[in-house]
Amino acid sequence: MNFVEIIVRKRDGLELSPAEIQAFVRGASNGHLGDEQLAAMLMAICIRGASAKETQALVEEMRDSGARWQVGARFPEAVDKHSTGGVGDTVSLVFAPLVASCGVPVMMMAGAGLGHTQGTLDKLGAIPGFRPAGTHAQATGLLERCGVCFAAQSEEIAPADRRLYLLRDLTGTVPSLPLIVASIMSKKLAVGANRLVLDVKTGSGAFCKTPEAARELADALVRVAVQAGVEVRAVISDMSQPLGDRLGCASEVRAALEVLAGRGDSRLRELTLELAVEALALAGRGPEAARAELGRKLAGGAALAAYDAMVRAHGGDPDEAKLARSRTAVVVTAARPGFVAAVDAEALGWIAVSLGAGRRRLGEQVDVAAGVVVRARVGDRVAPGQPLATLELGERQVDAAALAARAAGAFAIAEEAPELRPLISARMGGSA
Ligand code: URA
Repeated sequence: MNFVEIIVRKRDGLELSPAEIQAFVRGASNGHLGDEQLAAMLMAICIRGASAKETQALVEEMRDSGARWQVGARFPEAVDKHSTGGVGDTVSLVFAPLVASCGVPVMMMAGAGLGHTQGTLDKLGAIPGFRPAGTHAQATGLLERCGVCFAAQSEEIAPADRRLYLLRDLTGTVPSLPLIVASIMSKKLAVGANRLVLDVKTGSGAFCKTPEAARELADALVRVAVQAGVEVRAVISDMSQPLGDRLGCASEVRAALEVLAGRGDSRLRELTLELAVEALALAGRGPEAARAELGRKLAGGAALAAYDAMVRAHGGDPDEAKLARSRTAVVVTAARPGFVAAVDAEALGWIAVSLGAGRRRLGEQVDVAAGVVVRARVGDRVAPGQPLATLELGERQVDAAALAARAAGAFAIAEEAPELRPLISARMGGSA
C-alpha cells in the first residue's frame, strides 16, 4: 500500500494493522520515508490517538528497529530510570551516580530535549568531553568501569525513536500517549535492563496536564513493561511548577552537583531520593534502610565521587569550573505583593528553549550556557520588586524584553497563600 493511504487511514481515525505500523516505523529507521510523511503520520496519531494494540505494535517495531543489548543478562541488578518529561527535572544526573554509589548499576538510555522540556542528553552535553554510549560494547564497558552507563539512541540502538523523537520535538507532536509510550518503552526494552523506575509527571510543565491523563500514561507504561517481563515501579510526581530551580544545561549540571554534595534544591533532592528508594527496593532493600544508605552516600561524599567516576568513564571532565556560564542576566521581578499562587512551568520551559536551552528546528545547536533560574516558588510570599526569575542569556539573538515580560506572566500572584500539592501523588508497580 502507498504510504499516503496509510496516513489517510490514520487521519480518518481508523485502526492501523501491524503491517501498516511496521511500514511507518521501518520507513523511519531505514530512511525510505521522508520527514514530511513521517511528520504527517505523527500528527495524525497525535490527534486521533492509537488503540492498545496499535501502541503495542509501535513499541515492538521501534524496539526492533535496531539491536537489542539485553543488558539484564550480564547485569541482572541493573536498573533503568525514565521521566516522561518535565521542567527543571535534573533528577537523572543525581539519581545515576547516587544509586550506583549504593552498589546498584544504572543503565540509562537518555533523550535530548523534547518540546518545552530540557533533555538529559543535552545536559550531559554541557560537561566538556562527555560522550554517551552508542554501542553495546561501550555500554557494557561503562557499566563495568563505573556502574553507570548513559546511552543515546544511535544507528545501533533504537534508531526509529532517534528520528521520530527529533521530528516530534519540532512538529508539536510530543503530547501523545501512544507516542510517549512507544518512545520510552522501545528504548527501555531495546537496552534490556530487568528493572525500571518511571517518573510520570503531571501539571503545567508536563505533557500530561491532568492527574487522570498521567494515571492513564503510567498504567500504559507499566502494562507494557510488565508484559515484557520488566520489574517496574512508577510514581506520579508534581510538575505544576518547575521541579528544581534551574532550567538549562550547564546550570542544571551545577544544580545536580549541589544535591550530590548534600545541599541543593529541596524539591529536586526529595524527588531524587524517592526515585532512588524505588530503585533500591527493586534491588531488594527495604525503604528505611535504603533512605538511610542514600543519606549517608550524599553526606559522606560517596555520591559525588561516583559522579566524578561516571563523568571520567564517559570521557568527560568533572571539574565544575569548566561548565559554561551565561554572561548576561535579566532579572524578572514581582509587580505587586502577595503569594506565588502558580508558576506556569511550560511557559518557563519554552522561554528556556527560546534562550538557547532547546532546539527550534532540525540541526539547531543547544546553547549550554542559556537558561532560566526560578527564584520564587509556589507558596512564597513576594514583595514588589522582588526577583521571580533570572533569564540567563547565551549567544542566541533573542528579544530579551519580550521574554522577560512572558516570564513575569508565568508567575500568578494572589492575596491568599495557595494549597501546596504533594510532590508524589501516586505509586504503582508490577512484575511478570
Ligand atoms: N521521554 C521520551 O524518551 N520520550 C517521550 O516521548 C517523552 C519523554
